[in-house]
Amino acid sequence: MENGNLKLALQKKGRLTDKSLELLKNCGIDIENYSERLVVTSKNYKIDVLFLRDDDIPEYVQDGVADIGIVGENVIVEKKAKVTYLEKLGYGRCKLMIAAPENSLPKTVKDIDGKRIATSYPSILTSYLNENNLTAKIIEISGSVEIAPSLGVADLICDIVSTGNTLTMNKLKKSFSVFDSEAVLISANSKFEDDSKNEVLKDLLRRIRSVLTAKNSKYLMMNIPKESLKKISEIIPSLKSPTILSLADEKMLAVHAVIPSDKFWHIIDDLKREGASGILLLPIDNMIV
Ligand code: ATP
Ligand code: ZN
Repeated sequence: MENGNLKLALQKKGRLTDKSLELLKNCGIDIENYSERLVVTSKNYKIDVLFLRDDDIPEYVQDGVADIGIVGENVIVEKKAKVTYLEKLGYGRCKLMIAAPENSLPKTVKDIDGKRIATSYPSILTSYLNENNLTAKIIEISGSVEIAPSLGVADLICDIVSTGNTLTMNKLKKSFSVFDSEAVLISANSKFEDDSKNEVLKDLLRRIRSVLTAKNSKYLMMNIPKESLKKISEIIPSLKSPTILSLADEKMLAVHAVIPSDKFWHIIDDLKREGASGILLLPIDNMIV
């Protein structure tokens, strides 16, 4: 199946699947009919998507079965895969945490010493225990780790937590954070032997970075009194110099700027104080940086 296309490994069915396909879509890459097939070739881009179990992705990328892959950092580190991080993707965020039954929460990390901990992440947990000079018995379980304490198999668990609902249902509480994870784009090396693949990867990375930057940015538009221009320019956390346009009302100006999305609510009061009006905040689809 060597057609010169870049081979991208994605999770077949799981928490990273939809977000990864959405990212490709926002990059202008169409992936059709992926539901039951192992490999899908894009009709409008030199890419083949391989749909795999997430646990297999780090190794397949490391061994060159796939050129690049998208997978959670938790899986990459647990599998000790030798891969290069090309880009952190900002979704699939979760924490690997130690949790304990509500009535026997460890107060300090030292309280973990000598305990039995059930986990599907023995290797990350071992590193954590070593870093903290702790010894504990690791009970490796592949799924439903959270029921281990009630079965009497373990005292604590170390598992992925995002909302904490599963913990609450099992009368467990979070205690210490072991590892922070998000989805990342990986490759075996930063360069391929095949130069056309290097070109495709360069273009893909540019598209992905443009989508990620756009997602974190908003287009701010407003009208301001002419005399406030200097002060307002100082307030705007713009990525580059704002655009300034004149208006029919000669005492006023229109100001447009791209700002980091999370800054808007911090500056809104300051802008109003300086007389800004008609403030609009618009989403940006793509941004070439
Ligand atoms: P597969 O069938 O591919 O082996 P899985 O059941 O191992 O799938 P998912 O539960 O789909 O994996 O999770 C995939 C990844 O999503 C995790 O490895 C982790 O990086 C991330 N993730 C984000 N939030 C959570 C969460 N609340 N629970 C588990 N994983 C999460
Ligand atoms: Zn898995």
